[in-house]
Amino acid sequence: MIIGTIPCVIAAQAVVSGFSEQYQTLTSTLTSQPQQVLSELLSKPPSVNTSDPSKAEYYAILSDTYYALTYPQKAIDSARKGLSFITQQNEPWLYQNIKLIEATALEMAGKSIEALQAVNDAIVWAQDNEDEDTFLLGLYVRGSLFISLSEYSAAAESFLEAYDRTTHNTGKISKANIAGMLGVMYEKRGDYELAIPYYAEAVAHARKHNEPLNLSIVLFGLGSANFYAGNVVVGEAQISESADIARALGDEQGVGYALKQLAQISIEQQDYALAEQRLRAAADIFARSENISMDFQVSRSLFIVALATGDYQKAQKYRDSAISFLMPETMPADAIQLAILEGRLAAAQGDFSAAYGLATRALKLSESYNESRSSEQIHRVRAIYKVRASEQANRLLEHQNRLQRFALEAQEQRNLYLWSFSGITVLVCCLLGGMVYRVKAQSRALSTLAITDSLTGLFNRRHIIEQLERQVNAAQRYKYDLCVAIIDLDFFKKINDSYGHGVGDRVLVEFSRICSDNLRKSDLLGRIGGEEFLVLLPHTTLQDGYNTLDGLRRKLAKVSDVLGITELSISVSIGLTSYGQGIDGMQLMANADTALYQAKTQGRDQVVVHSTSTSTNS
Ligand code: GH3
Ligand code: MG
Ligand code: MG
Repeated sequence: MIIGTIPCVIAAQAVVSGFSEQYQTLTSTLTSQPQQVLSELLSKPPSVNTSDPSKAEYYAILSDTYYALTYPQKAIDSARKGLSFITQQNEPWLYQNIKLIEATALEMAGKSIEALQAVNDAIVWAQDNEDEDTFLLGLYVRGSLFISLSEYSAAAESFLEAYDRTTHNTGKISKANIAGMLGVMYEKRGDYELAIPYYAEAVAHARKHNEPLNLSIVLFGLGSANFYAGNVVVGEAQISESADIARALGDEQGVGYALKQLAQISIEQQDYALAEQRLRAAADIFARSENISMDFQVSRSLFIVALATGDYQKAQKYRDSAISFLMPETMPADAIQLAILEGRLAAAQGDFSAAYGLATRALKLSESYNESRSSEQIHRVRAIYKVRASEQANRLLEHQNRLQRFALEAQEQRNLYLWSFSGITVLVCCLLGGMVYRVKAQSRALSTLAITDSLTGLFNRRHIIEQLERQVNAAQRYKYDLCVAIIDLDFFKKINDSYGHGVGDRVLVEFSRICSDNLRKSDLLGRIGGEEFLVLLPHTTLQDGYNTLDGLRRKLAKVSDVLGITELSISVSIGLTSYGQGIDGMQLMANADTALYQAKTQGRDQVVVHSTSTSTNS
């Protein structure tokens, strides 16, 4: 097993805000008392009655705690156990978050590629569900994976996005946490000068917010960066402080890493005694925690120190120890380095044939390592490509979704316009309709006005004479009877004189009403003079015309009763004529007028038929 190439910069990786309260409280103390949190968790495993999601939470927190204390395999196992209690469908949030916890553990165990796809899926899920915290954690974890895969620009992309987006100044995935990871990234790239300010930001934050575990971790990073940048004294002081803090927290692994790094400084400074002292202390720690990878690293460093000091006995001892911790399958680069060191020892001891054999072995190992590395490189490139492709697909999908949303919005907008337009159109139509109706009514009124006598409401002179001409034409064409009569009120001048012009008017109006009521719809009636009226009776024989008009004459005598002026005697004289072949309208009127005159002269209050009139058509 290869321990991840990245030091864990933050203690707890989970977005715990979604966890139940007891676990939130526990993880809040994870950064100050990680060992206690672990003891407490281990002493209180979930009972049989605990719900499955709660069990999953327990193992998620346990995984996180193991991660914080640098137990990668235990962290992986715990995360997987947690996942076994839930499904992606039933507990999507918890599932994605535990997948991220598992991914960080996988990264620490040097299995970043295995985790890459799951992390990307979690990021996509978080985006779809607008879960900002999970999204930020996803970016953070993906950045870490890319660092360990030496994909620094991809790592920078994830971290810088997370750094820009996070609004958290404290808690998980705060600006300081991400700054710490940016420090790690630049350090791994060998850009120590660039790493320093980010680490410094993270250190300042951890100090300010009293997060000792984080402080110890980022101080370790800052010290290492300073050491490699050539600021050896400052770097050593920072790593020493990191070791002290870790010791106070009971974070043995942290102490071990710091001691190992301090020993490196001592070797660099050729202070082999101090280097050995620090390495031995580290060896004790790693032996207790079963961190085999670090057991190997420390043994190898002790081997180097012994070689440097010429203590070949010790060198043999540490060489054997290193060999015992070496797992060539999973640690090929270390195997090569060890073979070279062994060769150097053999040569130093004068065993040149053994030295040659070891050098040849190192070369062979190197060849196969390069081969496996190139296939691993392909595998890695393929894995990263897959993630990138899925990301592209997601972006495309998001783009399509956005387009669809736009289209939908546009459609809705169009519908709205359409509805508004329809509404407006309906309104306009109503208004137009109203206007048209009014115009029509007005024009109707106007044309009615144009043909109507204002006092009586009957046709006026012009119109009734027009109608006369029409009726004459029609009677001629269709050969039907047509009676034409002129009615004149008798002694009307007297009524005016005796009762006033107003009563005269009322008599005219009442006269008109009675005429209208007593004639057929097809009959036409118009006022042709002051108290003179023209009546057209189509399809009426002279006899029927006479009967009708004589009946009317009798009824008109009742106008005075209607008006309430009983002493007023009202009568009319009527001259009647009928259409005959070759007679025009004017002639008919003249004939009617002749008959009327005759009625007047014969004593009034009577109907006189014009002498030439005959019912020719019927
Ligand atoms: P006759 O029996 O011979 O027809 O006698 P008359 O008085 O009816 O006839 P005349 O032609 O001498 O008088 C008609 C009068 O009708 C004259 C005029 O003042 C009156 N007259 C005409 N138009 C109107 C009107 O619109 N309103 C009123 N109140 N009187 C009118
Ligand atoms: Mg008159
Ligand atoms: Mg008259």
